[in-house]
Amino acid sequence: MKIAILSRSKHLYSTHSLFRAGFRRGHQIEIIDHTRCNLVIEKGAPKIFFEGRERSDIEAIIPRIGASVTDYGAAVIAQFELMGIFTSVRTQALLQSRDKLKCLQKLSMAGIDIPKSFIVYQTDDLSEMLAMLPPGPVIIKLLKSTHGAGVIIAESHQSATSIIEAFTTTGQKVLVQEFIKESGGADIRAIVVGGKVVAAMRRQAAKGEFRSNLHRGASSVAVQLTEEEKEIVNKAARTMGLDVAGVDLLPSNRGYLVMEVNASPGLEGIEGTTGIQVGTEIIDYVAKHASKISAHN
Ligand code: ADP
Ligand code: MG
Repeated sequence: MKIAILSRSKHLYSTHSLFRAGFRRGHQIEIIDHTRCNLVIEKGAPKIFFEGRERSDIEAIIPRIGASVTDYGAAVIAQFELMGIFTSVRTQALLQSRDKLKCLQKLSMAGIDIPKSFIVYQTDDLSEMLAMLPPGPVIIKLLKSTHGAGVIIAESHQSATSIIEAFTTTGQKVLVQEFIKESGGADIRAIVVGGKVVAAMRRQAAKGEFRSNLHRGASSVAVQLTEEEKEIVNKAARTMGLDVAGVDLLPSNRGYLVMEVNASPGLEGIEGTTGIQVGTEIIDYVAKHASKISAHN
């Protein structure tokens, strides 16, 4: 099968892992930089050009769209979708999972427990809003953060107020969230492929750090999830419309809370920690489902 990985660089670990897995399975696999694709739109005939050549030969795409180019990446995926090409991440699912507010809104409406959160655009009623959260530390997040870079802990409601004011003054919306202290800097990252949890790890934040991102020096170990935990993970991925997802669970006194659902989960940490070839799982899933589409056409 002719599969294209949408990625800006073949040197990224996840891209390379998918490329190698596809090659080993005997697929014709290619890396296409989505930021260098041109989209042609005319009556009834969507087309994609890459490096000056029309590409109508691709049978499936695996988007690995970085957070800084989400919008154009989404447009490229949408164009492939219009052409009837199978994608492991649909446009809508990518867009809604990239937006932390949208993600939490969808999860909460599906009856999934999440850290209590509110969004601030103007600070008129900030003290009343903060009073809804327990006293003590509060988490503040920029809506499009990744790798923990836009996630801040304010030690008190007072310091939260000044941090939030600083952001809103510059016109930025922020997400304010209950701090789940009892997680102790630990969380679970589970990878879902086609409605199945294929790998999971527990991450532990580095000393003196509350964020469990591996990019922030966290450590990780492989774990087996219980059926109940798998059910939460699958439901979260399904709710976001994602067939391939990284779901983060925060352990709390009231059970696991879903913190985030990632549409382009990094493969380096999970493959290195668990020894499971997640890239191969994704390739097999894509090949199976894309061939169903081509048989249908
Ligand atoms: P990013 O998308 O940048 O990774 P996250 O929302 O996943 O942002 O937050 C980064 C990390 O911060 C999480 O992996 C977790 O360890 C910690 N964290 C986030 N929200 C909370 C919270 N409400 N309570 C405790 N820790 C949190
Ligand atoms: Mg995260």
